[in-house]
Amino acid sequence: MGKLFGTNGIRGVVNESMTSDLALKIGLALGSTFQNGKILVGCDGRTSSQMLKSALISGLLSCGISVTDAGLAPTPAIQYAIKSLDFGGGVIITASHNPPEFNGIKVIDRDGVEVTPDIEKQIEKIYFTNNFKYVKWDNVGEYTVNNNINSFYLNGIIKHVNKNLIKKSSIKVILDPANGVGSLTTPFLLRKLGCKVVTINSHIDGFFPGRKPEPNEENLQTLKEAVVTSGSDIGIAHDGDADRVIFIDEKGEFHWGDISFALLIRKVLSEHDGGTVVTPIASSKLIEDVTTEMGGDLIITKVGSVTVARKLKEVNGLIGGEENGGIFYAPHQYVRDGAMGAALLIELISETEKTLSELIKELPKYYQVKKKIECPENIKNQVLLELKEQLKEYKINDLDGVKIWKGSGWLLIRPSGTEPLLRCYSEAPTKEEAEKISEWGLKMINSVLTRIKNGS
Ligand code: MG
Repeated sequence: MGKLFGTNGIRGVVNESMTSDLALKIGLALGSTFQNGKILVGCDGRTSSQMLKSALISGLLSCGISVTDAGLAPTPAIQYAIKSLDFGGGVIITASHNPPEFNGIKVIDRDGVEVTPDIEKQIEKIYFTNNFKYVKWDNVGEYTVNNNINSFYLNGIIKHVNKNLIKKSSIKVILDPANGVGSLTTPFLLRKLGCKVVTINSHIDGFFPGRKPEPNEENLQTLKEAVVTSGSDIGIAHDGDADRVIFIDEKGEFHWGDISFALLIRKVLSEHDGGTVVTPIASSKLIEDVTTEMGGDLIITKVGSVTVARKLKEVNGLIGGEENGGIFYAPHQYVRDGAMGAALLIELISETEKTLSELIKELPKYYQVKKKIECPENIKNQVLLELKEQLKEYKINDLDGVKIWKGSGWLLIRPSGTEPLLRCYSEAPTKEEAEKISEWGLKMINSVLTRIKNGS
């Protein structure tokens, strides 16, 4: 049986592997298995999103499934609406942070979280056997449009923060939503909260002309400078579908998602008198430090936002987070949500009356080195097995790749789920030690790779 779904839905280059034929057939396959009522379908602002969305909706309607079209909306806005408005499920056309030529299809369960691998397999089975359940002409699904999904979502976020308090501090924010769908929501949210908002790259453009949609430091140079030149208190950046959020402090310093997640753990665990925190194995030791300090419980998962979301729901956790800027705030929804993360951090600044850099200075300090090495797909497993064997004298965790603790730091080597790469992360309380561990790890990977490639 063929496979369509990867770690984050179905992704591909438009009109190569990601075609309107594929979208139509996914609509038919989903429509043939689905029995839960109405489906909400929405999309990001890519050049191909409307094309794929229309094809997918046709497939669903052909199988008698009624569809509500949410139009352009952030991924978390669609997920929130599915969960809160009693849809039976949903589909989102997005390729998140991928380059503009990509697009993707995410299937969402009625709780707002991506469907389980079991449901993906059912859809794949029908897709590959063309076993579609077409209905008669008088049973074709009904098509409606809902233009209020984004404002409904923003009101849902505002409920969780103290609007009056935030308004009093009149925080100056500069926002960069990467010309993605976050342009439709986060500027309005921040203004509703009483912030002074300046935006860059804040109109929808599927070419992503301002910057690449991945919110990493390299792509946020303009925002870093703009925070300083505009005298803003904080810079906020999203990825293309606004489920992630990254912050720049008032001095123009970029901070990985671990840092903002740690600040939010302190905030929400003190408000809730403890709670369970969920994070993947790649996160900083900082997360463990602050969770312990606040008397919370920490659960470590494999890397992947869907895994974190499902675990957060399963254990009835309070908050989840990822180093790439995913914040999952369970009282709002189980999935990661860029605008919710931004609202919480803005509220924290108002509550403490401290600058973002002051808040960050109060956290334990760790240094990370993040590297990647090319590794052909067919030898990934063998390389990891050999590395595990070589590292067996260390304290080891093989939940996802290989993580070992060395000196006062750690090293994680894990296969990328989407590219022919191994990721090599290291962390330690000093930069020198983190770099030393990284170099040691890279050397080890390279020697194993060379040996396997040479067949010896
Ligand atoms: Mg995303």
